[in-house]
Order: sequence, then structure tokens, then C-alpha cells
Amino acid sequence: MTHSDILIIGGGIAGMSAAYFLAKAGKSVTVLEREDQPGYHSTGRSAALYSETYGPKIIRKMSTASRDFFITPPDGFTENPILTPRGIIMTAAPGEEAELDAILTEGRANGANFVALTPDELKEIVPIINTDLIAAAAHETDAMDIDVHALHWGFIRRFKAMGGTLVTKADVSAISKSGDGWTVTLSKGEEYRGDIVVNAAGAWADDIAIKAGVKPLGITPKRRTAVMIDLPSDVKAHGWPLVASLDETLYFKEDAGRLLVSPADTTPTEPHDVQPEELDIAITIDRLMTATSVEVRRPGESWAGLRSFFKDGDPVSAFDPQESSFYWLAGQGGYGIQTAPAMGEYAASMICGNGIPAHMTRLGITEDALSATRASLVTGK
Ligand SMILES: Cc1cc2nc3c(=O)[nH]c(=O)nc-3n(C[C@H](O)[C@H](O)[C@H](O)COP(=O)(O)OP(=O)(O)OC[C@H]3O[C@@H](n4cnc5c(N)ncnc54)[C@H](O)[C@@H]3O)c2cc1C
Repeated sequence: MTHSDILIIGGGIAGMSAAYFLAKAGKSVTVLEREDQPGYHSTGRSAALYSETYGPKIIRKMSTASRDFFITPPDGFTENPILTPRGIIMTAAPGEEAELDAILTEGRANGANFVALTPDELKEIVPIINTDLIAAAAHETDAMDIDVHALHWGFIRRFKAMGGTLVTKADVSAISKSGDGWTVTLSKGEEYRGDIVVNAAGAWADDIAIKAGVKPLGITPKRRTAVMIDLPSDVKAHGWPLVASLDETLYFKEDAGRLLVSPADTTPTEPHDVQPEELDIAITIDRLMTATSVEVRRPGESWAGLRSFFKDGDPVSAFDPQESSFYWLAGQGGYGIQTAPAMGEYAASMICGNGIPAHMTRLGITEDALSATRASLVTGK
């Protein structure tokens, strides 16, 4: 039976970023991933965006704490830049101007590059926009696209090069505590032993806790749909920023000359291999046709992914309060890619008993914000 210092369950971006930093800290690590492709679930289905002004406070801080890694990854991590320029334009309908102003003010105060746009200026950048429905817009020029594959596989490659083991097609079916360690059993019967279990199972985080006899923290996976839409041949979309409505009912971004469109749905669901619903695809098309001049005759390929949240919307990266060798790394919601370098480094540092990395303390990141005992996990915010 294989023994490792750390057994990580889940080979998505959360599990692999933690695995990389733990291996770097000298730990022997085995990652157990049910699928044959470790990015098969949420990690491979994201919109791949990086914005330091997006999401709740702890997410914004973790995104900022990830920036240096993205810009200057370790030698040999990836051949191509992980971040490339994109920008985000947020559009406000009549009546939403004050809310947009507040975002502009806060973003600028935090150092983000925000440009206020009139509807006409917006149309110059994204000519398909229907400006009748727009009162104002704000352009965050330094939002970036993330090469998710390069990031995820950079972690995997470097992890393996440091002696780490990633086992795919490894469906964890039972987890038991014996003495001072854990035995993790796969559905095909193999067993792995480790001193610490890291729960990085995404939408399945509560299921893994239950298997380990640990009280679930209450994670809710929420379905989000994306549909590819062709543009008329005379529309040159290359270089457009992502456009998102402030009321979070639609966003679209140019992708190889087509549009990736999402109705920004947040439908609670069970953890599973989620697929898009016909109704959500129809809603996506309807909203795009209302917001723009695009006539959709036939949608292109579509997919759905799970964004998993705890009740207060913030992630947990901490040892379980009752089971001190069971570490939670879950609830990254819609921000798990843009926060992965910092979340992985933070988890590894806490697991190794080294406390919060200094560059994160300087940003005001506290243990409490990511703890498994914070009251808001039960009450919500
Ligand atoms: C449509 C959409 C758009 C998004 N856009 C963005 C974005 O622009 N920017 C951003 O930062 N984030 C975005 N996200 C969120 C991001 O994708 C997630 O936060 C992130 O991928 C979560 O990573 P994870 O490793 O926790 O989960 P996953 O990638 O789901 O990994 C969990 C892994 O655990 C494995 N597992 C579960 N149970 C078991 C078991 N019993 N045995 C073995 N393995 C198991 C699963 O197979 C899975 O591979 C988006 C998500 C969606 C769905």
C-alpha cells in the first residue's frame, strides 16, 4: 500500500495547485482524481477570466495575491504567458447608474484601471451592443484572460517533476481513520495511506467529508451555462473586452471570432456531470438578441459547469475543527482559477504549519476569512 504525507482528493485546479506547493515544500503527495482528465469538471468549463475587482473581498485579495505568480511563473512552468489582455465592460441599465458609480469608485480606490464610458463610446468598442437599454458603462482595462490549460498543466507537470503522484481514474469510495493516519479506498479496491487528507473535490466536497466521517460544511453546487454563438461574417470581434450586465443576467466574450455567451445562471443542483438545459440555452439566446443586434439562427456548442459555494459565498481553506488531519480546500465559487496560485500556496503553508505567507498577510488576508469555523458558514452573510 502506498503511503504519502498528504493525500489530495480531486485533481482540478484547487487540488493541483495545493499539490504543487506541498511538493515544493518537500512533502510526499498523492492526488487521487476520479476522471481520466483532471480538468474534466469545473476547471475545464470556466470562462477563464482574471479580474482583481470581481467577487467577494477575500476573493479579490486572493486574486491580487495570485498576480505575481501569473505574470512570472516559475521557470519551466509554461511556454506561453498565462495571462493575456482582455478587459471587462460592465453595462448599467437606466436606474443602475449609482451602483455602477460605486463599483468604479471602489475599483479605482483599489488601484484598478477603470474608464467610464457613455453608451456611444461603448458602441464604438463593441458595435453590436443595443445602446437603447444602456445608461452607462465602465471598462476595467486590466482584466485578463487566463490560459487555464497552461496553468493547470503547469501545476501538474511541475508537481510530477518534483516526485508527486497523480492517479487518474481513481474514484474514492471510502475513507477511514486508523491510528494517526488515513486509509483511502478506491471503488476498484486499491488503497492509499496518508497522514493528512486534503478535500479538494469541488462540488463533491461534502460527499468526501461524509465518506471520511467528517461533518459536511454545506456546499451548494450551482449550474452555469455557456453557449457559443457565430457572429455575422462582417463583424470583426477580435480584441473585444468581455461585456457583462451589472444585474448579472448576461455576459459574452469574443472567442476565436465567435461569442461565448452565458446567462450567468446560478441554479442550485446536485454534484454531477452537469449538462446544459434546453431552457437555459433558449434564455441565453433571447438575452443576447435583446442586448445586441446579433440574430441567432442556430446556437453552436454549449456546456454547463458547477460553481460551488458555501452559504456565505467565501471559500474554506482550513483544517476541519473536529478532525485535525482533514483539510478543506473548497467553495471557490466562480473564482477558483483566478485565485488558484494564492489558494494553493496558502493551503500548503497552513498544512505545513507555517502560517499565512507574508505577502498575503500584507494584503490583509486572515485565517478567519478562510476558516471552517466562521459563523457565516452557518448563517450566511
Ligand atoms: C461556466 C463557469 C465559468 C467560470 N468562470 C470562471 C472565471 O472566469 N474565472 C475563475 O477564476 N473561475 C471561474 N469559474 C470557477 C472555476 O471553474 C472553479 O472555481 C474551479 O474550477 C474549481 O476548481 P476545483 O478544483 O475546486 O473543482 P473541479 O475542477 O471540479 O475539481 C474537483 C475534482 O474532484 C474530483 N472528485 C470529486 N469526487 C471525487 C472522488 N470521490 N474521488 C476522486 N476524485 C473526485 C472531480 O472528478 C474533479 O475533477 C467558472 C466556473 C464555471 C462553471
